[in-house]
Amino acid sequence: MAKNLDELRAAVRARGLRATPSRLAVLELLRASDAPVSHADVADRLASQAWDRATIYRNLTDLAEAGLLRRTDLGDHIWRFEAVTDDTAHPHFVCTECGTVKCLPELELAVLRKTKGPRALRQRQVEVHVRGLCDACL
Ligand SMILES: [Zn+2]
Ligand SMILES: [Zn+2]
Repeated sequence: MAKNLDELRAAVRARGLRATPSRLAVLELLRASDAPVSHADVADRLASQAWDRATIYRNLTDLAEAGLLRRTDLGDHIWRFEAVTDDTAHPHFVCTECGTVKCLPELELAVLRKTKGPRALRQRQVEVHVRGLCDACL
């Protein structure tokens, strides 16, 4: 556990941010999560701590701007955050019934060589959202 904390501290400092306890807690929570989490959910999960929601929101945006978190809007106008694990963003599955979000690292968007679409597509600067019913709603 202490080793993990050292690692978090080093990651935050390497991006030029101060390693405050709330920042480390937010990053630790998101690294342990297997799906993107909204500010409201992060604040709820850290509710036993003394930090207010505004502090947690600032931590999320600071960590996102520093490149440690990725921020995504999956179509419901709610920002969700997840830890950046590698530099290729993966598609996300969104349940159209209950709104559950799942990461789909195993799904890849294949861009054919002759694609004439926007440059962002060829450069993979796009987000892929797959919509359907989750297992619980199917
Ligand atoms: Zn569902
Ligand atoms: Zn994801």
